[in-house]
Amino acid sequence: MKFKNNNISIELNIHGEKEYTKVSYPAKYGIFSKLETSDHVFEFNLNHEIKHAKSKNSTWRNPSEWLKRSIGNDWIYYSTGGYSGVFEAIGEYYLPNLMYQTNSLIGGKPFTEEPIDYIVKKWHQTLLQLPSREIPENFWPWLKSIQQQTPEKLQKKAEKLFNITGSRVSVMPPDARHVDYNIIPLNISDGCLYKCRFCKIKNHKKFMVRSQQNIDNQIEQLKQVFNNDIINFNALFIGEHDALNAPEDLILETIQKAYHSLNLKISYMTGSYLFIFGSVDSFLNSSKTFFTRLNQLNFQTFINIGLESYDQATLDLIGKPITKEMVGQAFKRIQDINKSCTNIEITCNFVMDDSLPDSHYEALMTLIRKSTSKNNPKGCIYLSPLKFGTPSREVLYDFYKLKAKSRFPTFLYIIQRL
Ligand code: SF4
Repeated sequence: MKFKNNNISIELNIHGEKEYTKVSYPAKYGIFSKLETSDHVFEFNLNHEIKHAKSKNSTWRNPSEWLKRSIGNDWIYYSTGGYSGVFEAIGEYYLPNLMYQTNSLIGGKPFTEEPIDYIVKKWHQTLLQLPSREIPENFWPWLKSIQQQTPEKLQKKAEKLFNITGSRVSVMPPDARHVDYNIIPLNISDGCLYKCRFCKIKNHKKFMVRSQQNIDNQIEQLKQVFNNDIINFNALFIGEHDALNAPEDLILETIQKAYHSLNLKISYMTGSYLFIFGSVDSFLNSSKTFFTRLNQLNFQTFINIGLESYDQATLDLIGKPITKEMVGQAFKRIQDINKSCTNIEITCNFVMDDSLPDSHYEALMTLIRKSTSKNNPKGCIYLSPLKFGTPSREVLYDFYKLKAKSRFPTFLYIIQRL
C-alpha cells in the first residue's frame, strides 16, 4: 500500500532484503514500513515501532548513514567512516556508533551533532505533527498506531524484554554483526565462571543454570514481546556470559525448542543463526558428540570464547584465572572443530592495551601466525581494547600490525549491549 503527495509519502509492508550481506550501501532487511516527509525518512517494524531514521537535509553527515533503534531502545548511528577503513577494522561496511561509552577505537561523536540529536529527541513530536488531513483515511489506523508507540512506551517495552530474560544483555557476541545484531535473547544460565579482574561487563552472579520452567516461560513471553515483528528475526542468542557451561542436553533441547516455538523456520530472513558465549573451561569440557549434534541442527552457529592472552604474565595481570596451557589447548581444539563442523564457527577474543607486556603480543603471534602455514577463512580472531572511552591511535596501529600478520580473519571487538 502506497501514498505520495508533495510533502509526504508512505509505503506499508515493504519487502526488503532477505539475506544479511556485507555491502557498502545501506541495505534494508526484513519487512517494514516507511514514512518520508520533506525533511526525514522514518522506518517502522511490524509492531509499528520506529526502527530507522535519517534526515534528508544537507546538514546530515552522509546520505547513506542512518540511525537505528535497537530492541533494547538504544539509538545507534551507522557511519561509513570511509568504507575501507571501517571494513578492515570490524569486518562490516558500517560502524555502529553507540550512545554510551565503549571500547571502540574508531568513530566520532555523532550524537553531539544537531541533526542526529534532533531525531533522537524529537522523532515522536515530528510524527505527532504530521498533517493527517493530507493522508488518505485508509492509512490512518497505521498512522495512529505509529504515533501511539511513544518513547516512554518503547522504553517500557525494552524493560519488559530485560525482565523476561532476567537482565539486559550487557554485551553481545562479536559474531552477532553477521545479523546486524538483530538477535532474540534467551538466557539458559546466569553469570560466568571466572569474574576476571579486567572485565567491565561481568555481573556478580555466580554461574547458575536456569530451570526448564524458567526457559519455557521466557520463550512464551518472548513470542509475545516480539509479536508481529518476530518474522523479521532469524537469530537466537543463548545467554548469558557462558551458556556453553550449561548441560549439553539442555543447550541442544533449548535451541530446538526455541527454533520451533519462535517460528524461526518461517522467518522472512533466510537461514537461522545461533550465537553463544563460552569460556575456556566450558569449551574444553564440551564433548565431541555435543559439537557433532550442534552441527546437525538447523542453525549456523557461532561460539565466541574469551581466550584473552596466550601469555601467563598477561593472564595474571588482567586477573583471568586460567593458564597459558589451557589457552593453547583451547586454540588448537577451536581449529579442529572449525575444520570438521561446517555449520559451526568458533571465534575467540584477545585483549589489547598499551599497558600490556610485549610478551602478550609475541605469544599472540605464535597462535595467529606461527600455528598454521596457510590463511584460514574461518575462526575469527577478535581483538578487544581493554579501556573504555579512550580511543588510542597507538592501540589502533598495533591492531593493524597484528591483523596484517594474522592468518585468520582478524577484527576489533566493539562491546555493544542489546
Ligand atoms: S571476561 Fe567473561 S569470564 Fe571473565 S568476567 Fe567477563 S564475562 Fe566473566
